[in-house]
Amino acid sequence: MIDPFGRKITYLRVSVTDRCDFRCVYCMAEDMTFLPKAEILSLEELDRLCTAFIRLGVRKLRLTGGEPLVRRNVMSLVRALGRHLGTGALDELTLTTNGSQLAKYADELAEIGVRRINVSLDTLDPGKFTAITRWGKLDKVMEGLAAAKRAGLAIKINVVALKGVNDDEFDRLVAWAGDEGYDLVFIEVMPMGELGGETRVEQYLPLSLVRGRLQRRWTFDETDYQTGGPARYVTVRETGHRLGFITPLTHNFCESCNRVRLTCTGTLYMCLGQEDAADLRAPLRRSDDDAELIAAIKAAIARKPKGHDFVIDRRHVRPAVSRHMSVTGG
Ligand code: SAM
Ligand code: SF4
Repeated sequence: MIDPFGRKITYLRVSVTDRCDFRCVYCMAEDMTFLPKAEILSLEELDRLCTAFIRLGVRKLRLTGGEPLVRRNVMSLVRALGRHLGTGALDELTLTTNGSQLAKYADELAEIGVRRINVSLDTLDPGKFTAITRWGKLDKVMEGLAAAKRAGLAIKINVVALKGVNDDEFDRLVAWAGDEGYDLVFIEVMPMGELGGETRVEQYLPLSLVRGRLQRRWTFDETDYQTGGPARYVTVRETGHRLGFITPLTHNFCESCNRVRLTCTGTLYMCLGQEDAADLRAPLRRSDDDAELIAAIKAAIARKPKGHDFVIDRRHVRPAVSRHMSVTGG
């Protein structure tokens, strides 16, 4: 699949549920209304959709959410998709998780063929952790991380940089990740979804500032390491581990975008920062044959936009897109 700007689409992110056992302040309002179950694709339908994308050239699949590991029976989907690793049709099957269920699932993930996972963790302070996630417990996530490490999964920690919340901890996080053997990625807050109350102007911290502050303590060696995702990496000389920066706002990474995003209702978003989407659930359900579905996917890719236009400043306090990150999964 090649889009109108010559970009090869090889990476599919799938939000398997919009639900979550946390309510992170930058991601969800506390009183979220979730989708009615009837609108959500079954695990079998998700498998069929992902398999169609793989037939069309997707080589990397990331399960996300909401929290992917809270969807009932989600491991049956992971196992089903794992068959494509066995045949060589897929290079990588991975997931982004808040870590709360990892203690339970890490061994099984590794056995199926998952090699690395992203775990979101913004602070090492238990009180702050609960303040940020509202419903989360840091010790559960730490147990999950330990289980994942024992299972041999490579771990990348995602940290959303939040002004006045975790910005005093960045050095400590880099040191900790180095000690544990994890890569670390900082993410800028993106303007997605209404939060009920606070605006993102207060939360937004440009990573150019974070990077500058970190360089007072750490030495960054340039690297051309690429994961197929949007992060730019350096190696921290003192820890020997990679440090990434995802900067949708201060640096536009759209020109090398190779991905599209599928929601748990079968809606395909061709860009995280634009409203345009394609409904794949109707063609999926209309026939057992994939011909119509494949035509719908190709038509969607043919209108993938050039990029997003996220802006956060005092004149733009409204979200750039109305859906929450938990819909398209980040
Ligand atoms: N629940 C899983 C987790 O937290 O890792 C997967 C879904 S979550 C939506 C995916 C990533 O998006 C997480 O790393 C989270 O921190 C990030 N995220 C959520 N809302 C965001 C926002 N408004 N701006 C930037 N990152 C956001
Ligand atoms: Fe849940 Fe992940 Fe959103 Fe936090 S960032 S509320 S863990 S989906």
